[in-house]
Amino acid sequence: MKTIFLDRDGVINKNPSDYGYVCNWTDFTFLPNALEAIRDLTHNGFRIIVATNQAGIGKGIYTEQDLTDIHCQMLTEIEETGGYIHKIYYCPHHPDAGCECRKPKPGMLIQAAREHNIDVSKTFYIGDSITDIQAARRADISPILVLTGHGRDSYNHCINSDSTAKTDKPNKIFTNLYTASRWLIQC
Ligand SMILES: [Mg+2]
Ligand SMILES: [Zn+2]
Repeated sequence: MKTIFLDRDGVINKNPSDYGYVCNWTDFTFLPNALEAIRDLTHNGFRIIVATNQAGIGKGIYTEQDLTDIHCQMLTEIEETGGYIHKIYYCPHHPDAGCECRKPKPGMLIQAAREHNIDVSKTFYIGDSITDIQAARRADISPILVLTGHGRDSYNHCINSDSTAKTDKPNKIFTNLYTASRWLIQC
């Protein structure tokens, strides 16, 4: 089975303004055509796994139960559209906690690959931040950058700067999850 890893904020849903957090369902807005992309990937045999940093829990801004409720609603809408998310991994820790799961560390991706016997050499991680690219590289997963969310800033950082480390560069760049899904389905 083909597997695709997705970041959440800035890929599936809009980033809240001012680098804030999605604290409840009313803060959650699907990006245009994200539901259709997830539906089409599902229908074309992709197993979809989400890996997301949720430091707002560690900072005490919202609770793990709040996040569970948001994901429950998100999955309901995705499934009503015909899509399916196999599993959501999240890092609830404060950025200063030094955990192994917060991206750019690859902990969530490595754990997901181990738990689902995934051959990472054939997989992609779609994200909008440099930390997504870094986490994917460290897990030997091919990084795809999308230009939604923080993607434009990430693009300027990784493409326009000659000094950017190779580990910060994506293998592919697409305007959004939907255009990325077109490519994944065809290749
Ligand atoms: Mg993101
Ligand atoms: Zn963590």
